[in-house]
Amino acid sequence: GARSGGSGTVAAFDGAIADANRRRLLVRERLALALAAGTLDVHFQPVVDLDTGGVASFEALARWTDDVLGRVNPVEFITVAEEANLVVALGQHVLAAAVRTAADAGVFAAGASLAVNVSVVQLHAPGFADAVRAVLTDVGVPASQLTLEVTESVFLDTGSPAERVLRELADTGVRIAIDDFGAGHASFGYLGRFPAHVLKIDRSLTNTLTVDSDGQVIVSCIVELATQLGMVVVVEGIETAEQAVICSALGAQRGQGWLFEAAVPTERLAEQLDRNFASGGVPA
Ligand code: C2E
Ligand code: MG
Ligand code: MG
Ligand code: MG
Repeated sequence: GARSGGSGTVAAFDGAIADANRRRLLVRERLALALAAGTLDVHFQPVVDLDTGGVASFEALARWTDDVLGRVNPVEFITVAEEANLVVALGQHVLAAAVRTAADAGVFAAGASLAVNVSVVQLHAPGFADAVRAVLTDVGVPASQLTLEVTESVFLDTGSPAERVLRELADTGVRIAIDDFGAGHASFGYLGRFPAHVLKIDRSLTNTLTVDSDGQVIVSCIVELATQLGMVVVVEGIETAEQAVICSALGAQRGQGWLFEAAVPTERLAEQLDRNFASGGVPA
């Protein structure tokens, strides 16, 4: 470590911090330009009905390829956006672009729904609920076909402003999903307090399904809990047929993951609507 090593170790440590800071500043600067130019992309990952094999919905996922930085990982640029006060603009761009693109591809007409990720920072920004309603009205999409995905950090303070905004949106018909359940604290109290519609089980739990039976017991209990509370369960990060079979057997209604399909660009969105993953992904 820096303490026990020679001065060379300390210098290397300081150098790594300086590199990380430079990278963050560069990402921030390039991201601000990309947002101003509107060059951020949205891709769409199908969410599969595990009973029928049909596509129930799509999750919109931000994608960014920069002239200088190349392709940047969403976890990296979303984190920078949250720290640099850029995530409100980013989120608004993704929401508007995703709803418009999905409508054009016939997603809503086919009865499928669209899920968009929302940062807690957006929920604290004034006018968020109005902005969501404006997008739905502009494009002509029923509120019930939009799901907003939030992580459970939103619910850690009872009755927080963020929770009030979500309630207001839920009252107008928008669906709320709790994303990445099981990745963080996975506390249960707020699940009874806040009427979320969808519970998304984090990939880290999906990964345990085939390791030993303990993983299955935990996922089974979460599915049971969510079902009792009237929520639809989506299992994230399904990569193998074995995982899909286990999820289905445990009572999970929906699955999402590379076994079925990764996030696809706009040109490949419409064709996903006809796929059936029970029959090996061939169009229904
Ligand atoms: P998330 O909302 O949990 O999205 C699921 C992530 O899992 C996506 O990563 C997706 O590409 C990835 N994934 C899907 N299936 C599999 C699989 O079978 N195996 C593995 N290993 N990964 C899979 P992605 O696109 O890199 O996004 C990462 C995170 O960045 C998202 O996690 C979300 O928290 C955030 N994010 C992405 N787009 C947006 C956005 O527009 N707004 C906000 N606020 N956050 C976003
Ligand atoms: Mg999500
Ligand atoms: Mg997730
Ligand atoms: Mg996740």
